[in-house]
Amino acid sequence: MTRRRLIAGNWKMFGNRAALAELTPIAAAAAAAPGVDVAVAVPFTLIAPAAELVPTLPIGAEDIHEAESGAHTGCVSASMVREAGARFSIVGHSERRADQGETSHDAWAKAAAGHRAGLSIILCCGETEAEHNAGRAERVVQAQIEKSVPDNADASWFTLAYEPRWAIGTGRIPTFDQIASMHAIARAKLRMMIGDRAADVRILYGGSVTGENAAAILACDDVDGALVGGASLTAAKFVPIIEAAA
Ligand code: PGA
Repeated sequence: MTRRRLIAGNWKMFGNRAALAELTPIAAAAAAAPGVDVAVAVPFTLIAPAAELVPTLPIGAEDIHEAESGAHTGCVSASMVREAGARFSIVGHSERRADQGETSHDAWAKAAAGHRAGLSIILCCGETEAEHNAGRAERVVQAQIEKSVPDNADASWFTLAYEPRWAIGTGRIPTFDQIASMHAIARAKLRMMIGDRAADVRILYGGSVTGENAAAILACDDVDGALVGGASLTAAKFVPIIEAAA
């Protein structure tokens, strides 16, 4: 069984239309690396123009609401982003958990809603620095997976991302042994939940991935790609990560 590597960008709340110019060289680099899947999640406002500009590059949302429609001012549903051209959504990102108080149960509901609407899902988990320092990372991540991964998850639409919160945007990363060990723990937990299908599910590492450290991170056991924030904002920084995965 081989899992194709996935390098996914997450633009967060960065980027106006001028930023779309970065996607053209990113799409070209993706085309030049046929063994690697490349995708970029952008702010809601950029989904439609991005999908139009680079039709070969899967464009995604950074979040979706769990309901199909309703009185939820300011929220956007899975079918809406799908119609705008998104092919996937991130759910359960630690910034949503920290800023909007989202829980693992919310991430579960969003993953299920996204799948129902025909989106692929990248579901994030990861411990805080306090949990890491207290030696609780393993238990925290296992509990997040337990509560957020839908029973029908499989590799055709579902990807897990392990992102230690303290590594996001900080320039600090765990040791490679710690990354491999957390990915093994995550896969074992997935196996308990979805059985043999867990073997095909990609588990991405996220948190301060750069062109400099990508090759070493991707070489860790059970790391099937990366979820990249800051370094996905420009082709100059993102393309080397795609190349490291190729
Ligand atoms: P970072 O963000 O690469 O800027 O650390 C990763 C993420 O939040 O997905």
